Amino acid sequence: MSILQFKEFSSFINISFWNELAQKKLNIFKLSDAPVNISAFYTYSSSAQLDPFLSIEYNSFLPLTSSNEGDSLYKLPPKSYLSNGIIYNYNTKEDFKQAPKQKIFEDVSLNIWNDIKNGNVERDSSLLSRFLILTFADIKNHQFYYLVGVPALSFESPITLRSPVQPINEYFTSNQVASLKGQLVGSQQQFFLIRKEGQDSVEVASLDKWSSFVDEAKNGTLIVGFSDPCSLPSNPGWPLRNFLYYIGFKQIKDVDVVCIRDVKGQSIDTSIVLQLALPETPTEWSKKSVGWEKDPNGKILPRLISLASTMDPLKLATQSVDLNLKLMRWRIMPSLDLELIQNTKCLLLGSGTLGCNVARCLLSWGVRNITFVDSGKVSYSNPVRQSLFNFEDCTGAKGKDKAPAAAENLKKVFPAVNANSEILSIPMPGHSVAEGLKDEVKAVYDKLVDLIQQHDVIFLLTDSRESRWLPTVLGRLHNKLVINSALGFDTFLVGRHGSRVPNANEKEGSEGVDLGCYFCNDVIAPTDTLKDRTLDQQCTVTRPGLSFVASSMAVELMVSVLHHPLQGRAPAETDQDIHSGSSTPLGILPHQLRGFLSHFSALPVYSTAYKNCTACSNGVVDELEKRGFDFVHEVLNDSSCLTKYAGIDQYEDAGVTIEWDEDFSGDDEDL
Ligand SMILES: [Zn+2]
Repeated sequence: MSILQFKEFSSFINISFWNELAQKKLNIFKLSDAPVNISAFYTYSSSAQLDPFLSIEYNSFLPLTSSNEGDSLYKLPPKSYLSNGIIYNYNTKEDFKQAPKQKIFEDVSLNIWNDIKNGNVERDSSLLSRFLILTFADIKNHQFYYLVGVPALSFESPITLRSPVQPINEYFTSNQVASLKGQLVGSQQQFFLIRKEGQDSVEVASLDKWSSFVDEAKNGTLIVGFSDPCSLPSNPGWPLRNFLYYIGFKQIKDVDVVCIRDVKGQSIDTSIVLQLALPETPTEWSKKSVGWEKDPNGKILPRLISLASTMDPLKLATQSVDLNLKLMRWRIMPSLDLELIQNTKCLLLGSGTLGCNVARCLLSWGVRNITFVDSGKVSYSNPVRQSLFNFEDCTGAKGKDKAPAAAENLKKVFPAVNANSEILSIPMPGHSVAEGLKDEVKAVYDKLVDLIQQHDVIFLLTDSRESRWLPTVLGRLHNKLVINSALGFDTFLVGRHGSRVPNANEKEGSEGVDLGCYFCNDVIAPTDTLKDRTLDQQCTVTRPGLSFVASSMAVELMVSVLHHPLQGRAPAETDQDIHSGSSTPLGILPHQLRGFLSHFSALPVYSTAYKNCTACSNGVVDELEKRGFDFVHEVLNDSSCLTKYAGIDQYEDAGVTIEWDEDFSGDDEDL
């Protein structure tokens, strides 16, 4: 009597599965290490040299049955059979090492036993095939540790062969084989019952016909079949073990097992028949089960797969950047809306010190769409202060154009960013346009309108005050979030412009407000917050650290605005509000910050929109909407006309005048 031996499974885990696990970990599981159901399949083996394998792929996480309409479901490939799995993904390598492996293995085995005992396998024979996988996803390093088990319940003593292994064509007549094949085609039956019907046919039935088949088999031997992933001449594959345990539990001693092997879909002629004698099976499970996957040296040890070398470096960079941000969300701020930030399109008007630093800070927040606008070239003094430029950018005959150089260098930092550029000089009030240049300036104006319409947030980072006027008016007309950042020698101003269009989330009790713009504050700003000097009066060269502070404040202000339900219409908060609970997950949402490097402090200040503002008042914005470039052209040639549209000419006698001072510096000037 020879003892029957089974060929175990090798796990075949597709790279796509690890990528999917990483995604699930980042977006769904996060810090949870609760077990999750997954699915795998096995199929016929085409060669005796190939181990039977259990395939785990990207779709393994999909559900088997639909709970919501439109759910994608796990689908088996043709001629493949289901294995029901469970994954335990641990948060740390230490947790993975300390996992109660034996307990988990026993739990899965117990499920198999219960399904046998309760008859569940008769309704769904795939329940006889289960697996488990323990993992630790070291996402930062793109490494995955794992251990796979395919539990099989063990008899107390070996299963023996009553006679030598027979080819299917000896056990059945050729007509019976044809009949069997005909009934199996497309049925995807994993474990089934077979009954000979005379010399020429057989009947195949699922396990729910168990009692009638067994009754009739009383005078002969029970015949069963299973889809066998093994192709060795005298050993069946692993799934047969639990099937035999089920048969033994039903108090059957002798059974003939047809191991169906459907090589290349041609025929089942290579199938074999095992005539077996089963040992005594206890009515209660003895808790014995086997089936941990062994490593090539035959040891049960965790395996490691590193995807770093197989991955596209760009993908690696993208995933790593996302991971850092997601860690912030898991650990500190669950309500952080990283997708919103990532999808925000930012237009940077000015690609100097502020533009470079704002871009870098946006990049580290995960913003993926950044457009630089500037008309200047990179000069020798720039690279040390302007963080996107290098010495090479200024060594040509003239130096590279700033905007394209900034975009190009930003992509060197992170190739997945969609960085674009426009070489464009923003039309400025009071800078009159010669008649012959009118069409050219009109084209620039049209381009600017286009850019503003295509972006969500407009950053004003140019090196002069008057170049901020047109984008301010356009930003308000097109209801964009405008963030302003300007520098004095050791002071800065960072602020957000208001919006005159009510937000959809506004309701009674939480109305939005229309805050002032850079120009309204300039006219009406209380002098005491400026410590006796207006920004305009200050020196044009700035303390080197200042632009980093102002740039990051500008970006952080944008991120906070995006997290407020009223966004651009959010009321201004000051440090008084810190104690009364903040309106965004990131803290208070100020209107403007006036920073003083000499005090190492920044003060939140606010104002509402000034009804006679030369940039954001309805008179000016409506005029632009009505007349477009004609209005702009008028202002370029004679900025004093703005007093008329803004309705402030009546105040001129009171000493409020509009001056377009040339000595104001928004960004530090090129020397
Ligand atoms: Zn204004």
